[in-house]
Amino acid sequence: MERTLILCKPDCMEKNLAGEVLRRFEAAGLQLVAAKSMRLTPAILAEHYSHLADKPFFPEIVTFMSSHPVLALILKGDGAVTKVRELLGPTDSRKAPPGSIRGDLGTDNMRNIAHASDSVENAELEVKRFFKSDEIPA
Ligand code: ADP
Repeated sequence: MERTLILCKPDCMEKNLAGEVLRRFEAAGLQLVAAKSMRLTPAILAEHYSHLADKPFFPEIVTFMSSHPVLALILKGDGAVTKVRELLGPTDSRKAPPGSIRGDLGTDNMRNIAHASDSVENAELEVKRFFKSDEIPA
């Protein structure tokens, strides 16, 4: 059983779509393990997006991701990491296919509704980045 970390991004929250996004994950058989609303700081974003630190759009991502509290979720299920990434679609919402979360609900490269862990290893790191151990059921 895999775990994966989701962030419903500021565009998702402002468009009132967090319920729809979670509904799609649950309908695909994934189970909600933990959830919390949190305002992301520049420090946690620098860690979370360290692979993009040298990109010209990095400051814009930090501004966007800290502009509104996000909803952090832990989901579990068989092959959860891959399943969630498939349901989400590619990074650029304009290129994401109809039926995918980003394709149906996202706007562009940055405003793409949700983050999801891209590997089992990163999922475990990200679960620990965003949740304290006593916020997760044993
Ligand atoms: P993903 O979120 O699909 O795993 P990345 O890890 O490559 O994609 O990028 C992290 C986030 O940074 C994206 O979800 C998006 O919000 C933002 N981003 C990525 N590429 C761009 C870009 N070219 N312009 C603006 N924002 C971007």
